[in-house]
Amino acid sequence: MAWDFSTDPEFQKKLDWVEQFCRDEVEPLGYLFPHAVRLPDPHVRALVKDLQQQVKDQDLWAIFLDEELGGPGYGQLKLGLLNEILGRYPAAPQLFGAAAPDTGNMEMLAAHGTEEQKKRWLEPLINQEMFSAYSMTEPQGGSDPNLFKTHALRDGDEWVISGEKWFTSAGRVADILFVMCTNGMFVVPRDTPGVEIMPEPRNHNHIIYNDVRVPLDHLLGPENGAKVLAQRRLGGGRIHHAMRTIAQCKLAFDMMCERALSRESHGKIIGEHQMVQEKIAESYASINMLRLYVLETAWKIDNSSTQETRTDIAAVKFTMAKVLREVSFNALHILGSLGTTDLTPIQEMYAAAPTMGLADGVDEVHIATVARRVLKEYTPHDGYWPTEYIPAKREEAWEKFKPRFDANPDLLKVAEGYRDYLAKRR
Ligand SMILES: Cc1cc2nc3c(=O)[nH]c(=O)nc-3n(C[C@H](O)[C@H](O)[C@H](O)COP(=O)(O)OP(=O)(O)OC[C@H]3O[C@@H](n4cnc5c(N)ncnc54)[C@H](O)[C@@H]3O)c2cc1C
Repeated sequence: MAWDFSTDPEFQKKLDWVEQFCRDEVEPLGYLFPHAVRLPDPHVRALVKDLQQQVKDQDLWAIFLDEELGGPGYGQLKLGLLNEILGRYPAAPQLFGAAAPDTGNMEMLAAHGTEEQKKRWLEPLINQEMFSAYSMTEPQGGSDPNLFKTHALRDGDEWVISGEKWFTSAGRVADILFVMCTNGMFVVPRDTPGVEIMPEPRNHNHIIYNDVRVPLDHLLGPENGAKVLAQRRLGGGRIHHAMRTIAQCKLAFDMMCERALSRESHGKIIGEHQMVQEKIAESYASINMLRLYVLETAWKIDNSSTQETRTDIAAVKFTMAKVLREVSFNALHILGSLGTTDLTPIQEMYAAAPTMGLADGVDEVHIATVARRVLKEYTPHDGYWPTEYIPAKREEAWEKFKPRFDANPDLLKVAEGYRDYLAKRR
C-alpha cells in the first residue's frame, strides 16, 4: 500500500525551520525594506547576506534547481511543501534564491546553456550578482506565439535582433534579458545599444529592440528552439506559482477565520452566521482540493517529467487562479470595510488575483489544452447510443448470465421477475 500523505520527519524539521525563519526574520525585513535583495545600501546588503547565509547553511538555496542542473535537487514535491511556506512572505523567494523571473531563466540556462554560458550568466544569477527578465509577450499578441514577430538576423559574427516586447516583468532593472525570437532564444544584456525601455508600464516593461547586436554565443539552445525552451521555462514556473498560491490562500483563510471569531453582529459572533460559515467551509474545501492537486502534480513530475505531466500542470494553473479569486474574495468580504483598505494584505491579494489567470498563459488556453489532451484518451461510441446506454448493458448482462440461468432455473425466474418489474415501471 503506497499511498501516504505524511511528511518524512527529517524533512519536516527543515519545513519547521523555514516556517520559523520566515516568521521571525523574513517577514520583519520585508515590512521595513521591501525588495531588500535589490537595495544597494551596504547596511541592508549586510542584513540580506546574513539571512541568505543562514538559508545556504540549511542547504535551502536555489531549491528549485534539480541536482543534475546544479541545485540541491529536492524535487517538485518537497519544493511544493517549501513553497507553501515561502509564498506567504513576499520577500522569501528572493531570500531563498528562488524568485521569478530569475528561476525560469536559470532553469533554461542550466538545461540548455553551454558550459561557457553557464559560467557567464548562470553562476552570477544563482549568486544574485545579476538579475534577469524574460521578454516573450508582444504588444499584438500574448496567448498565441504564432503571432510573435521579434526576429534575429545573422550578420557575420553577430545576431541582430529587431522587434517589440510587452510586459517584460522587471525588465527595467534586469542585467540580462532573455528574448524569445521567432528563430531562437537570445540573451541580451540590458545595456546593449538599441534596447529601448518605454516609460510605461513601470514594472512590466514595454521594450523595443532596435537592431540590437549580440555575439553569436548569445543564442541559448539550438537555432529555432525557442518554443521548446519556453515550454520548459513556463511548465516549471506554473507549478511553482501554484505552490506559492496555496500559501496566499492559506493566509487569506487564516485572516478570514480570525475575523469570523473576533467580530459580532446581530447578537452573534459573525462565524455563527450560516452564510459566513458557508464561505469558511467552501474556502477550506477549495484550498485542500487545490493543495492535494498541486502536490499530486508535483509528485507526478518527480516520477515522470514536466512534459508528461502537461495536462495536470495546465489544470492546476487555471484551478489555482480560480481558488485564489474565490478565497481572497471571501476573506475580503468577511473583513468588511477593513478588507477594502491597504491596511491588511487582503486587498492587494484580491486585486492581484486576476493576474494569476493571465500570467504564464490565460485560463482559456489552459482549459482548452486540458480538454484537448483529455479527449485524446477517449474514442467515440459506435451507433446511436453511448457505452453506458442501460438497455444495451442489461442485454449484455443477460448474455453473460445465460450459462448460470441454464444451470439454475430458480435464478432465471428471479431475474425474469426483475426484468418484468422494470419493464412495467417504465
Ligand atoms: C503579472 C504578469 C506578469 C507577466 N510577466 C511577463 C514576463 O515577464 N514576460 C512576458 O513575456 N510576459 C509576461 N506577462 C504577459 C503574459 O504572458 C500575457 O499576459 C499572457 O500570455 C496573455 O497575453 P495577453 O496579455 O496579450 O492577452 P491576450 O492574448 O490578448 O488575451 C486576452 C484575452 O483573450 C482571450 N483569449 C485569448 N486567447 C484565447 C483562446 N485561445 N481561447 C479563448 N480565449 C482566448 C482570453 O479571455 C484572454 O484573457 C505577464 C503577465 C502578467 C499579468
